[in-house]
Amino acid sequence: MSNVFASSHPIVAHKLTRLRNKNTDPKKFRELVREMAGLLAYEATADLATVERQVETPLATLAGVELREKIGLVPILRAGLGMVEGLWELMPTSEVWHIGLYRDEKTLKPVEYYNKLPIEPTVSVCLILDPMLATGGSAVATTDILKRWGVKKIKFVGLIGAPEGIQNMQAHHPDVPIYLAAIDDHLNERGYIVPGLGDAGDRQFGTG
Ligand code: URA
Repeated sequence: MSNVFASSHPIVAHKLTRLRNKNTDPKKFRELVREMAGLLAYEATADLATVERQVETPLATLAGVELREKIGLVPILRAGLGMVEGLWELMPTSEVWHIGLYRDEKTLKPVEYYNKLPIEPTVSVCLILDPMLATGGSAVATTDILKRWGVKKIKFVGLIGAPEGIQNMQAHHPDVPIYLAAIDDHLNERGYIVPGLGDAGDRQFGTG
């Protein structure tokens, strides 16, 4: 699991515990998803390339830096939406490209229903956002789409991963690093992560 990073930061662990609590209401849940996404993205973007940019302080001139790569945020609809604002707070000029996938309840396989990517890639780094890496089907399918689009550097940022989903991603896309707040025990027969937090979409949007 060399490409898998589970945060050991106490603030992330504290927020995750509140997120898991079944009594956390949708307003608080959305706030936690946004905050945790920002904290995890901070770790996930530690290797972004920079270029030198001269800056004048009130006292002197020095060689500073600015981000070199154009960043694309790719939330997997719908649960990934709640993570976007947390990353925008760090990188406000990021482009957001939505990918809509739903999970067929019988096969548990992802079905694409929304994809408006232009023909040529407009960004050089993509961060795939989905709170739950469960079977990994959506993450694998989204990575396939982004690689076909021509993006060379792709990372996955989620909140909780199941061992099954992590293995699936690593089998299909071993080059894509995975950033999570926690790795949980297993998937149940309905494809939910246990202990997990329930349905991340329903809990954000109040539809449970
Ligand atoms: N999607 C969710 O929202 N929760 C899970 O536990 C698994 C997939």
